[in-house]
This record gives sequence, structure tokens and C-alpha cells, in this order.
Amino acid sequence: MMNGKRVVIVGAGIAGLSAGLRLAEAGIRVTVVEKEGTVGGLARSFTYGDYVFDVGPHRFHTDDPEVLAFIKEALDGDFVLMPRSSGVWLFGRYHDWPLSIASLFKLPPRIILRVSRDLVARRRVPGPSFRDYIVERYGRTLYECFFREYTRKFLKRDPGEIHSDWARTGIDRAIIDKRLQMNTLFEVASRALIPRRVKTEFVYPGTGGIDAFSRALARRIEARGGEVRRGAPVEHIEIAEGRIRSVTTAGGATVPADLVVWTAPLDFLCRLAGLERPRLSYLSAVLYNVMVRGTLRLRYQWCYYGQEDLLFNRWSIPRHFRESTCPPGGTGIGVEVTCMRGDATWNDPERLAGRVASEMRAVGALGPDNAIEGIRIERIENVYPVYGLDYLGELEETERRLADLRNLVLLGRTGTFWYNNMDHSIQAGLECARDIVAHGGDGLRHVYARQDYATRL
Ligand SMILES: Cc1cc2nc3c(=O)[nH]c(=O)nc-3n(C[C@H](O)[C@H](O)[C@H](O)COP(=O)(O)OP(=O)(O)OC[C@H]3O[C@@H](n4cnc5c(N)ncnc54)[C@H](O)[C@@H]3O)c2cc1C
Repeated sequence: MMNGKRVVIVGAGIAGLSAGLRLAEAGIRVTVVEKEGTVGGLARSFTYGDYVFDVGPHRFHTDDPEVLAFIKEALDGDFVLMPRSSGVWLFGRYHDWPLSIASLFKLPPRIILRVSRDLVARRRVPGPSFRDYIVERYGRTLYECFFREYTRKFLKRDPGEIHSDWARTGIDRAIIDKRLQMNTLFEVASRALIPRRVKTEFVYPGTGGIDAFSRALARRIEARGGEVRRGAPVEHIEIAEGRIRSVTTAGGATVPADLVVWTAPLDFLCRLAGLERPRLSYLSAVLYNVMVRGTLRLRYQWCYYGQEDLLFNRWSIPRHFRESTCPPGGTGIGVEVTCMRGDATWNDPERLAGRVASEMRAVGALGPDNAIEGIRIERIENVYPVYGLDYLGELEETERRLADLRNLVLLGRTGTFWYNNMDHSIQAGLECARDIVAHGGDGLRHVYARQDYATRL
């Protein structure tokens, strides 16, 4: 049905490229236009000499056999399997995350006492906010000791102003493996006291960074006659009779479109379409990619920091994903500081580099032998959709307005404003491509978001 017609995909992230490859394989004309000079979107990587850093800790995990097969096929067998090892800095020391029995005993006794009280006297706190959800599920003590500060620091908003979906999706993401079940304080405690042998394995490319996956997809699209235009931000769309006729990228290149698959930010699409700007915002981040001499005392792959007087929320160590992401005798640490585009951190991140370095030493992430050889700073836009209390109504209203554009499909984490992991973006991309191949432009869903979209089901 799409014979001779062209699908334009805006954004060469995981979702756009996964859909693009399946379309190109089906013989459909595909043009992917990407703002950045490289592909991968949020799952892109930065290479400085022998050091490779991703946008924070990135690795694949999925329960879906089709998605797993797609990942392995794209990587052409060049991948490693690795376990997970993450930690959390609480009360001035490191604890394994998810909590182990050993870490439970490292917590201050007064906290153990209060948590035990919460466990037996669990109070129902009905309400729509992140705060209500956490207090109800995990008790007031854990909320006050960790979730409140972490969330305030991470999102720059009070947890009472954040929708409970943020908690649901965020905790799912931190746990990853559903077999671990930690949806209540009782489950957290029982997992720590009676550990279950759940072996969770993650897939990571055998060469390069996480972007090896996206680069492989882009190569395959091109090998099948499709186009991937890098460094081509969409700046204009031409609309006539309820359809997008073409997209124009910086420099004035215009690509005619029979169908547009949009994976870039929703608020920007509304602006291009001349619609009212939705009250939907994305959080951005500054990455401080620190290169140090020697190895690190801490063995974690990544670690969370809730304490509000520390600048960073989390760091990750690519070397603990795969040894060859750094040169012999060196280690890279990717430090993540969230911010809003245009705020002081975003505008002048260099000013904070010294503070990042001294705080890394203060929390023992860097030892006396770990001389810093360099810090590279990267600014990443639209890293997390922010779920304010009214986000769902606003999102539905935005989708409704955009549905007037009959040849537009919304896809991916940024394009649907949904907190996808890579496997969700792949899954939705494959499903979207399958429908386009089967039905052409007719009978497509307008939004290809995750099927288990918490509140909307
Ligand atoms: C710190 C961090 C850690 C993560 N860890 C994991 C993990 O361990 N495992 C996991 O599965 N997932 C992880 N994720 C989630 C994962 O990164 C995303 O789910 C996935 O990359 C989303 O891909 P996407 O294609 O849906 O969206 P995006 O990557 O947002 O793709 C959108 C694309 O559109 C492009 N674009 C924007 N504006 C324009 C424009 N005007 N014109 C053209 N192009 C434009 C962007 O540059 C981007 O390439 C993590 C995310 C973050 C931020």
C-alpha cells in the first residue's frame, strides 16, 4: 500500500531507527532526519580517544523474545552479557540496591525501628501524587529518608506536585526485573531478608558504547536504500488539508512526506503545527564525563545519591559494563546532573566541574590514587518527561489536537511523552512498522506508546 510513497521519520533514536529498519526491509522508501550529528538519541555515546561514555548507564533488558532477537541480530552477535550491580548512598555510606540483608544491618538502628513500625502500621494515604504513592507503598520513613530528597533534587519540584505515575514507572525502571517484586515496603523487606535467586542478565554491545546498536540499525537502513540524514534538525512542516506534506530541515532541505513518524519532542511538534504550546515539559541533564587514573574502590556499575547538598543524582562506570570502554590504566565515570534547559546549570555547566570533582572525592567514589585526567561536559536535552499532577489530561488533549493531522504517528519515549526504556521503544517501533507495512497510512494508531501505560489502562 505504501508502494512508491515515502515515510519520513523524525528522530534517529532507538524507536525511529527500529521502525525505519523494518520499513526499509519491506521495500518502503524511508528518510530518517536527525537533529544531532550522530544517531542513537538518548542512547547515544561519546568517544574521547580510548574512552567511551553513554548518556548515563544504558544496557538492554527485555522479556520480549522478538525484541531480544532484534537486539542480538542488530549487534550481529557482538555483545556481552552482564549481571547488575548498583548501589545507593544513604546515611553517609554505600548500600547495595536493591537492598540486601547486609545493607539492612548497615542502616542506623533508629531508621530500622521506624521502618519496622511502618511495616506493621501501614497507613493508606489516598491521593494522586508521587508523595502519596510512596508513603502508601513504602512508608513515611523511606519517603522522608530517601525518596523526598532524591525526587526534589532530581526533578526540581516537590513530590506533592508530581503525579504518582512517576513513582510507578521510576521504580519499575530501577528494579527492571519484575521477578524481584518490590512494590511495597513488605516486599522490599522480604527480598532483603529472604533473597530470591533471580539472575538478571543485561545485554551490552561487545564493541563501542550503547550507540553500537543504533549505528548498526542506521547502516542497515542505508544498505536497503533508506536514508539517514544526520545533523538535520526539522525546522518547519508544511501542512495542507489536514496532512503534513513535507518536512524541512535546517539549511532548507525539504523532504516530501506521505506519512510522518514523529519521535522528537511533542511540545516542539505543536509549535511547528501552529498549535497551542502544551504544558508538558522535559527535564534536561548535564553529563560530566570524568576520566581518572587507575581503578576505583567501588565495584558498582552505577550509584544513586539522594542527598540534596550533593550536586549529582547518579554516576555510572562504563568500565564495569565492559572493560574495553577505557584505556588500560584509566577509568571513566559518567556523572549525571539534571537541570532545566536554560537554567544556570544548563547555561554554564563548566562552573560546576570543580564541585563535581570534589564531591566525588567526598563520597569516596574517587580515591587518592585516582588523579583526574580530564572532564568532558555534554548537555543533553529532553532526557525525562516530567509528570506534573495534570500531565495526563494535558497529554490527552495534545494528542487529540494532533490527531487532526491524519498522516502523523507519534512514537517513542520523547514523541509520546512516555517513560520508555529502550526495549519499549524497540517494541513500539516494530509494531508501528508492522502496521504501516500491513495497512499503509490507513487504520494506523495515532500514538504508539507502551501498551502497559499505567494510568490510561
Ligand atoms: C540516563 C538514562 C539512562 C537510561 N538507561 C537505560 C537502560 O539502562 N536501559 C534501557 O532500556 N533504557 C534506558 N534509558 C532509556 C532509553 O534511553 C530510551 O528509552 C531510548 O533511548 C528512547 O529512544 P527513542 O527513540 O524513543 O527516543 P529519543 O532517544 O528521545 O529519540 C528522539 C530523537 O529525536 C531527535 N530530535 C529531537 N528534535 C529533533 C528535530 N527537531 N529534528 C530531528 N530530530 C530531532 C533526537 O535528537 C533523538 O535522536 C535510559 C535513559 C536515560 C536518560
